[in-house]
Amino acid sequence: MRPFTYTRANDATSAIKLLTENPNARFLAGGTNLLDLMKEDVERPNTLIDISDLGLAEVKSIANGVNKGGVSMGGLGKNTDAANHPLIRQHYPLLTQAILAGASGQLRNMATNGGNLLQRTRCPYFYEVSMPCNKRAPGTGCGAREGINRMHAIFGWSDQCVAVYPSDMAVALAALDAVVHVRNAAGQERQIPIADFHRLPGNQPEKDTNLVHGELITAIELPPNRLADKSYYLKVRDRASYAFALVSVAAALETEGAMIKQARIAMGGVAHKPWRALKAEQLLVGKEATEANFNQAAEAVMADAKPLAHNAFKVELGKRSIVLALQTAMNGGKL
Ligand SMILES: Cc1cc2nc3c(=O)[nH]c(=O)nc-3n(C[C@H](O)[C@H](O)[C@H](O)COP(=O)(O)OP(=O)(O)OC[C@H]3O[C@@H](n4cnc5c(N)ncnc54)[C@H](O)[C@@H]3O)c2cc1C
Ligand code: SF4
Repeated sequence: MRPFTYTRANDATSAIKLLTENPNARFLAGGTNLLDLMKEDVERPNTLIDISDLGLAEVKSIANGVNKGGVSMGGLGKNTDAANHPLIRQHYPLLTQAILAGASGQLRNMATNGGNLLQRTRCPYFYEVSMPCNKRAPGTGCGAREGINRMHAIFGWSDQCVAVYPSDMAVALAALDAVVHVRNAAGQERQIPIADFHRLPGNQPEKDTNLVHGELITAIELPPNRLADKSYYLKVRDRASYAFALVSVAAALETEGAMIKQARIAMGGVAHKPWRALKAEQLLVGKEATEANFNQAAEAVMADAKPLAHNAFKVELGKRSIVLALQTAMNGGKL
C-alpha cells in the first residue's frame, strides 16, 4: 500500500471542500471497497477524508416535495440499518431483500448506502494490476474482452469495457425509481434519478457514474408506490453467500383483479449499470399476470442481449430468472 494522509471530517461542508480541492483525495465511508482496492494497488489516493462521523444516516418519511409520502435514507446510513428499518421493510421489501442478498452481515454493518452505490466492478482484470484494463488504466486495453468473460455484460457493453456493476441494492433502487441527492462545494444540491446515476462504459469506462469529483451523496429518496405487496429480488450466483450475482432480477407488480396495472423489472449482473427493462414492463401493463405473459416479457428483455464468448448462458438464465421473479412477486414475495 502507498502512503496517504488521513483526515477525519467534522462537517459535510469541510469534507466536500477538502475533496474538491484535491483530485487525488477520496471520501472514506465504510471502507469495505475502497480499502480493498488500495491494498490491491488499484486505487491510489494520496488523501482519505473520513466521512463516517457526519451524521446523514437517518431513514425517515418524506413530508414534502415530489416524493412526499416516500422514504429518505441517509447517504451515510449503514446498509444493515436501511435493510432492517421498519419503513423500508413495510413499504420497500424489495430493497430489504436486495440489500440482504449482498455481502455478509459484518460487511453490511460497515457498508454505507452511498458507498454501496459507488462500489466498483468485480472484473478480475480490473483487480489484477499486471493486466490491461481500460477502467483502471485508460488506453491499456480490456483484458476481459478476449479473455475469460463468464461474469461479464450481455447488455450495453463497448469494446473498451465489458464489465458489470456489482451492487444488489442499486438494482432494487432502479426498479423503485430512487433519486440520489448530492451536494457540492458551493453548497448546491443536485438530485439525480437513479437511471442517470450510473453510466454505460462507452469510450470512458473509467467513469462509473455521472457524479462530479467533490460531490457528496447525502441521501437516497424512494418515491411512494403501490408495489410493496407484490415484489421480489431474485439473485442467482455461483454459491449461496459471499458471491456476486451472475444474474439478478428486481421485480414488482401492481395488479387490479387479474390485470397488471404497473410492472417494474430491473436486472443486475448483466450490464455496467442496473438494467431497467422498460419495454418489457410496458408489454405487461393491461395484461393478465400469467406465466405466458411473463415469458413474453422475458423474451422481449433478452432479445437485445449481446453475449460474449463465455456468458451466453446468461441469456437463458436471465429469461428464467425474470419469469421466476415475476411469479414470486405475484405470490407476495414467497418462492
Ligand atoms: C467480500 C465482499 C463481498 C461483497 N458482496 C457483495 C454483494 O454480494 N453485493 C453487493 O451489492 N455488494 C457486495 N459487496 C460490496 C459492498 O456492498 C460494498 O463494499 C459497500 O457497499 C461499499 O460501501 P462502503 O461504505 O464501505 O464504501 P467505501 O469503500 O468507503 O467507499 C466506496 C467508494 O464510494 C465513495 N463514497 C463513499 N461514500 C460516499 C458518499 N456519501 N458520497 C460520495 N462518495 C462516497 C468512496 O470515496 C469510494 O470511492 C461485497 C464486498 C466485499 C468486501
Ligand atoms: S471489462 Fe472493463 S474492468 Fe474488466 S478488464 Fe475490461 S476494461 Fe477493465
